[in-house]
Amino acid sequence: MGRSINVSDDCIFCKIVSGEIGSDIAYENDQVMAFNDISPKAPTHILVVPKTHIPTVADLTEDHQSLIAHLILTANKIAADAGLTGYRLVVNCNAEGGQEVYHLHLHIMGGRQMRWPPG
Ligand code: 5GP
Ligand code: ZN
Repeated sequence: MGRSINVSDDCIFCKIVSGEIGSDIAYENDQVMAFNDISPKAPTHILVVPKTHIPTVADLTEDHQSLIAHLILTANKIAADAGLTGYRLVVNCNAEGGQEVYHLHLHIMGGRQMRWPPG
């Protein structure tokens, strides 16, 4: 797989990636973008998304191996830059998993004691 970027016309995160919808950008490179969650559930709550449109984590294929590794490594860097020594990485999958936006994203949450299970 190359690094071509697929876009879904009705996807809010594709619109954030393209700049059509504004966001508070925390990090960006050619493959991924990170921005602050509009409705934070922790003092630090950043979303890391691949620039290409992938609806859910269950849609990942072997072709995405380096992309998903890059997503997690980027999340670790962002968390370190944000000064987080402990944090939670969350991926919700489909409605029953609590997913609301169908463009794959990693939640970085921290800045308070995280509890388990999240409920
Ligand atoms: P999900 O439930 O799909 O895992 O998480 C979606 C997240 O996206 C939610 O935490 C929600 O607050 C956030 N979100 C939804 N719409 C927007 C938006 O327009 N801008 C930003 N920055 N975050 C959004
Ligand atoms: Zn999208």
